[in-house]
Amino acid sequence: MKQNNNGIAREVTHCRICDSTDLLRYLNLGMMPLANNLAASEHDAKNMQRYPMQVQYCRDCSLSQLTVVIDPREMFSNYAYRSSISRTYIDHCRVMARSMRDSLGLKNGDLVVDIAGNDGALLSVFKDELGVRVVNVDPAENLAEIAEAQGVPTITSFWGADAADKVIAEHGRPSLITATNVFAHVDDVRGFVSAAKNCLSEDGTLMLEFPYGVDFIEHREFDTIYFEHLSYVLLEPVRRLAESLGMVVFDVQKQEIHGGTIRVFIGNKGRHDVLPAVAEFIAHEKREGYHAVEIYEAWNSEIDELIAELVMEIKALKSGGARIAAFAASAKGNTLLNACHFDGETVDYIVDDTPEKIGRFSPGTGIPIVNRDVLAKNPPDYLLILAWNFAKDIIESTAEFSAAGGKYIIPIPGFKILGTDREA
Ligand SMILES: [Zn+2]
Repeated sequence: MKQNNNGIAREVTHCRICDSTDLLRYLNLGMMPLANNLAASEHDAKNMQRYPMQVQYCRDCSLSQLTVVIDPREMFSNYAYRSSISRTYIDHCRVMARSMRDSLGLKNGDLVVDIAGNDGALLSVFKDELGVRVVNVDPAENLAEIAEAQGVPTITSFWGADAADKVIAEHGRPSLITATNVFAHVDDVRGFVSAAKNCLSEDGTLMLEFPYGVDFIEHREFDTIYFEHLSYVLLEPVRRLAESLGMVVFDVQKQEIHGGTIRVFIGNKGRHDVLPAVAEFIAHEKREGYHAVEIYEAWNSEIDELIAELVMEIKALKSGGARIAAFAASAKGNTLLNACHFDGETVDYIVDDTPEKIGRFSPGTGIPIVNRDVLAKNPPDYLLILAWNFAKDIIESTAEFSAAGGKYIIPIPGFKILGTDREA
């Protein structure tokens, strides 16, 4: 493995699922800074270390993956952000808990482990709705304190063989391990799934939920590419990984959160009835061309055109005298703003609800991050919704802005203005 940038960035030469070296680069978004290292000044933000943001396709197992892996110690700062701020997310957790009870037959007293369970939002719901015992495994100490305070026991660690042993020693074997929005961020996916297998009861289930590679391509979600997000995952590579570990994918369900995710259920071979949905998803992926490189090459040109269109439309609004601000200093916002080469000249500020982000500057672009008071006191003409997966929440919660004539720009899957006759 090649190293550069003082050992911080490692080049990916082997597929992390099937170890193939037959990897073909299909998208290049240029050099970008890390998304979550918010800067203390505009100058620092614009002068941050940058790394190549490129995606490659494995011609053996169809996994899309970044061409580099950044040392996680550089990406995950001491302070991690809470997940339970969004109401959409809490509702999603509640529906998930009930669905797990119904489909897996979870009962009172069963143990459920959540990998990277953040502030314990999902597990609190599991505990309250289902009466199960719960354990959170998350590396962020500040979040562990919040989770513990809500009655969710937390092991402060990344997931792996050691954490799995600790769960067994302190709590017993879980009948369910959940990992939502984690799998695509993991480099050693084989070690990750293997640790879950060794931890689970014989009939237990590993549930992975991750953004679906089909939606990623179909809805042009290029801004979900960032350095923490290492893989863009179809069902086929996960099926292959499970099989190679003596496991089987026995169910798959589509979820509409975050622009389209899938929930994949994995267990020991011979212990679960494999539902028809699994073969149906894989047949659909194959039929639509996701197991061949051509679709990804065509997508590359589509994304180039989409970025050019965003730049052109927003520059046109600016030259007409419009003021533009953005909503949510998220990782995907960082990718979009940097891919478009916007800075404070184009976007006046970014509104965010996370107190720790206020007063900081967006990496690469140097755009200041402010709280909602600024939106009220100094409103722009247009609010660019970077967190488009929470567009409904954002629009509902900024009713005063739109009532006063403010309009919204939705950038993905294509430039769209809400609040005028240009609305599609
Ligand atoms: Zn592969």
